[in-house]
Amino acid sequence: MKCQPRNFAFNLVAWTLVCAVLCHAQPSAVSPGGENTSSAPDTVSYNISLADPEQHLVEVQIFLPAGRGEHELQLPVWNGLYQVRDFSQYVNGVRAKDRAGHPLSLRKLDKSRWEVTAAENGATVEYEVFVDAAGPFGAQLNPHHAFFNLAEILMYPVDGRNAPMTVRFDHVPEGWHVATSLASSQDGPFNAENYDRLVDSPVEIGNFQESDFDQGGAHYRVIVDADTADYDMTKIVGMLHKIAAAATSWMDDRPFDNYMFVYHFPHGPAGGGMEHAFSTAIDVSAESLKKSSIPLEEITAHEFFHLWNVKRIRPQTLEPVDYTKENYTRALWFSEGVTSSAGGTILLRAGLSGESRYLAYLAGEIAELQRRPAHLTQSAEESSLDSWLEGDAYYRSPQRSISYYNKGELLGVMLDLKVRELSQGRASLREVFEWMNQNYAKKGRFFADSDGVRDAAEAVSHADLKDFFAKYVSGRDEIPWNDVFRGVGLRLVEGTTTAANPGFSASHNFDGPMNVEAVAAGSEAERAGLEVGDTILEIQGKPAGQDSREPLARLHPGDTIQLKISRRHGERILSWNAGSHQEITFQLKDVDNLTAEQRASRAAWLKGEAQTAGAVRP
Ligand SMILES: [Zn+2]
Repeated sequence: MKCQPRNFAFNLVAWTLVCAVLCHAQPSAVSPGGENTSSAPDTVSYNISLADPEQHLVEVQIFLPAGRGEHELQLPVWNGLYQVRDFSQYVNGVRAKDRAGHPLSLRKLDKSRWEVTAAENGATVEYEVFVDAAGPFGAQLNPHHAFFNLAEILMYPVDGRNAPMTVRFDHVPEGWHVATSLASSQDGPFNAENYDRLVDSPVEIGNFQESDFDQGGAHYRVIVDADTADYDMTKIVGMLHKIAAAATSWMDDRPFDNYMFVYHFPHGPAGGGMEHAFSTAIDVSAESLKKSSIPLEEITAHEFFHLWNVKRIRPQTLEPVDYTKENYTRALWFSEGVTSSAGGTILLRAGLSGESRYLAYLAGEIAELQRRPAHLTQSAEESSLDSWLEGDAYYRSPQRSISYYNKGELLGVMLDLKVRELSQGRASLREVFEWMNQNYAKKGRFFADSDGVRDAAEAVSHADLKDFFAKYVSGRDEIPWNDVFRGVGLRLVEGTTTAANPGFSASHNFDGPMNVEAVAAGSEAERAGLEVGDTILEIQGKPAGQDSREPLARLHPGDTIQLKISRRHGERILSWNAGSHQEITFQLKDVDNLTAEQRASRAAWLKGEAQTAGAVRP
């Protein structure tokens, strides 16, 4: 997933999290339609009723096949983000009955698990779920639309997670349509070969706009749920065409026939994308989209590339997904961060970005890492293991953590340049990904976290990368940026600028409230009464959210800052004058006496291709 704003002035870091990741599986085959009691004898069928959008209540029925007398039913505790979110907090009235409608005994085993007994002849488990979380990581039903990450609402039988699944939607309001990457027969239920595949398929139901296009033999659907005045479908389809072509040609692969993009462009705070094997769901705020298409392009390239990296090129530590607790992995620097590195290359190849914009972007990423004191105390692997803490404001503070998106993206660039150097231009990050695709994904294997990446990079560069991984991936060494970029004729120019200092830093969990994570001792912010943990409701009179950096970025030293905050005993308005501080800035500039060789290396790097003909293709 991605919802990573960068270069937040004043350490107002909106952080972001993680994509989780369910299933790298192949698409389910279309099977004949049928009743709720299914096509195959062991099929688990779901019925989801949308009868009560005003109350945001979804009614779920699970039809368990005849066979075993006891079944345990589990509702996942996490999905979409690498954070435990305990979706069972929204579940009401769990009950069970037999095929004749007689109640069956149902016992709660823990906060997210139930046991039904005497179910030899089949059973129906029913409950209602409150769903009103907007965005690609949520589940929502309201009078306007429904969007479901199905893992947040559907329990699975623990003994039947790998059984074929069908799902049917009932009481769909008049005029609404269903969009999902799940296969279905005409008017029949939607099918998946197992639960993992089912819940890797988000569903949009509503009166959305739809377009489609074909590219390179695949069919792409584009679903947009937004005010038609806020976007231009023709432009979006044009962008998607370019991104799909650039990514599939870069990977020399297209592991799907159909793919679906789902977009929401809500007014107010929004932002983020969630990857799936055959689709993606992306939210960008309408206000931000109006200003620039860049965030939409960046997030789309990132999520689309995930269809390889993390969905199919997948670390062993994420498999099998444990829906009952954390899956700890050291690989998110690669699965998330290097997905962004690849996204940057795809935008360059698609003609949607260019050299100067790309270099400014990288310099901004370097600034973000270097400004966080934690870049010397937390490694990329440790940041990955700690992703489960990202819901906590203190954890997100610059002295406590780095972002594996941020450092991982830079590590992707560094690994690309290192492989080029060691292979004398015969290989690049492209060959690393193609090697991983051929040797892991296509062979149904998962890779061994950072070691699996190192094996691939060493195979295509024919060199030892032990030091690189020890210093920068598992280690916390300061990165020698000028050495990193010398081969492509760039140097990092460090400067300082006098900037307004608000005296505090704040951040928010993906769609959560903005919280104060640090207040500088002796600052005007402290004297005004701001405290760590305060929830910021408004900044300069505007609701706090994804765009909150903007009013603060416009401040000059001495300007008045006004926050509306909420604390235990209610809301307060605080105001004070911004101080000033020296802030480090970075630019990537040509080295003196740029050589023809450096120019040629840079051109190949910006194309995302190995420099030497006859490159090492896996
Ligand atoms: Zn991602």
